[in-house]
Amino acid sequence: MIAENLHQVEQHIKEAMARRTRVPKDAPVKLVAVTKNHDVEAMREAIDAGATDIGENRIQEAKSKFDILDRDVTWHLIGHLQTNKAKQAVKYFSLIHSVDSEHLARALDKEAGKIGKCQDVLVQVNLAKEDSKSGIYKEDLRPLLDLVDALPNLRLRGLMCIAPNYADVEACRPLFHEMYEIFQQVKEIPFKTANISYLSMGMTHDYQIAVEEGANIVRVGTAIFGPRQY
Ligand SMILES: *Cc1c(COP(=O)(O)O)cnc(C)c1O
Repeated sequence: MIAENLHQVEQHIKEAMARRTRVPKDAPVKLVAVTKNHDVEAMREAIDAGATDIGENRIQEAKSKFDILDRDVTWHLIGHLQTNKAKQAVKYFSLIHSVDSEHLARALDKEAGKIGKCQDVLVQVNLAKEDSKSGIYKEDLRPLLDLVDALPNLRLRGLMCIAPNYADVEACRPLFHEMYEIFQQVKEIPFKTANISYLSMGMTHDYQIAVEEGANIVRVGTAIFGPRQY
């Protein structure tokens, strides 16, 4: 079932790419299979069916899986991160999607330095200014981008956002479009070390629209693994 679901999501991504109007149709999209609240058995199934990237949103859970998952895979941290977990975050994750404050950026830089790592990160934008979501407001984005660029052990790779859970999914489209425009502007900034490549947006209910509007990383859980049990 997981394999079939994964292949269906991959197919939907291809179809959404073909529907793009403002974005090059052939610009590739990376699928991050979000495995939070699903067990290692489910993760193995997805990886064996072709998943190369997995997303977790809590350090504790990721750590417990990391120690037993006998598969080679790229780990993405997609959830809000507390500064006191920075040490473990740099230990386990290839790409951290959720940098949203100077304080957190500095903590990650320090811990990455201690283990001699250059940590790839995205800055999370709270475009709709929802109180319930983390992320920095777009007005405050530039100083944080400049800081991350300047920190020696972090490498800025792009932007991430989470759209509001609108009943009508089409309502996400203008937000995704605006994020793509911001992403294009950020690409033009003459940074020192940043390598702006990734725009991470789109989850189960809205990833097809996100891809149409220019996402090149989507984070999909439910459509692959089914509903989460809490
Ligand atoms: C859980 C989660 C996802 C995946 O959500 P689904 O609706 O299950 O696809 C994507 N991004 C973030 C940040 C998440 O926490």
